[in-house]
Amino acid sequence: MDVSPNVARMRPSATIAVSTLAKKLAAEGRDILNLSAGEPDFDTPAHIAEAGIQGIRDGRTRYTAAPGMPELRKAIAVVCSERSGRDIPWEGVVVTSGAKQALFNACFSLFGPGDEVLIGTPYWTSYPEMIGLARAEAVPVMGAESRDLKVTPEDLEAAATEKTRGFLFSSPGNPTGVVYSRAEIQAIAEWCRDRNVWLLSDEIYREICFQGDGNAPGLLDLPQESLGPHVIFDGASKCFAMTGWRMGYSVSDPDLARTMAALQSHTTSNTATPTQVAALAAYGEWDRTMEAVASMRKAFRRRRDLVTRLFDEKLPGLPYLQPDGAFYLFIRVDGLFGPGRESAQDLCAWILEEVGVALVPGEAFGEPRYARMSYATSDDVLEEAVDRLVGLLAG
Ligand code: PMP
Repeated sequence: MDVSPNVARMRPSATIAVSTLAKKLAAEGRDILNLSAGEPDFDTPAHIAEAGIQGIRDGRTRYTAAPGMPELRKAIAVVCSERSGRDIPWEGVVVTSGAKQALFNACFSLFGPGDEVLIGTPYWTSYPEMIGLARAEAVPVMGAESRDLKVTPEDLEAAATEKTRGFLFSSPGNPTGVVYSRAEIQAIAEWCRDRNVWLLSDEIYREICFQGDGNAPGLLDLPQESLGPHVIFDGASKCFAMTGWRMGYSVSDPDLARTMAALQSHTTSNTATPTQVAALAAYGEWDRTMEAVASMRKAFRRRRDLVTRLFDEKLPGLPYLQPDGAFYLFIRVDGLFGPGRESAQDLCAWILEEVGVALVPGEAFGEPRYARMSYATSDDVLEEAVDRLVGLLAG
């Protein structure tokens, strides 16, 4: 089939592909440990879920304004203002169907043919695709391994050209779990400001952080004068265990928000209304939500400690990046390459085939020497997965 040039270069989501294959094998009766999914295994906190159910009972099932219900946008702006100590205007908040749509809205609204957009690498798998759909060029930028692959202004300077229009990155990072310090983010922000480059900061894992107060530093923590043009992306999927509800948002200046809302008005319109009603409880009853987040964070931290201990003790030949946030272990696997297994993709296919452990090969994230393991699962599954890997590699 001849498809349009709009989508001719697009590749389907590699992470969704692995988890679909793992689910298919499991449905065929294979004993699969699926460590490929990027989602928490917890239920949505009860006060949020109940609010959504009540919303449906109350008939809140019609369209809202495309950028979301004003009361929800205001509740999000209050949370952001409290965090930053600055007044974040609610007109700059656009509620989207997952953070994914917020990222797409921004890439499509800001970038186009002839533009280059730097992306912190390893990157979340959809970044280069979204930039490509806007017909701009994604330019991967990777930091030194000694800095856990974190990017610095010097790395950005080396990659920038006169066509550079943006820098997009995530912290805590997917796939790495690595967290940038406030000083590191500030240095990047000031480089973007001085270069007049859009800074796109994906903070979807912000509250799943194992340092400090449990919140990873982000753009809201920086002084206003460090910031040039920027957009923050966040949402309920990861931190509130709400992946299926499709609730995300962007925070930007109100002018860009209006453009993104207009784009959304021609694509999906508003986020599902019951989801917005549930989200109003999540952001409006912030202390209650943070209590639920604290207990999930505690569980993720315990699993992080478990999985890193198991790797250190049982798989010392497999180094990994120290994860301080999110729920991923990014494992260096090129030491296992050999005949018939020349890439992370081959290796992950072999591991899935032989012992039924599903990992995502690093090719999906622009780092083919690594593979990603999600530890958003039970201790038993994690222990069993490590034992299966030990057995396979010993054999
Ligand atoms: N950004 C990152 C870094 C992610 O890992 C994900 C989900 N895998 C998203 C954005 C999209 O999240 P949502 O489900 O809210 O669309």
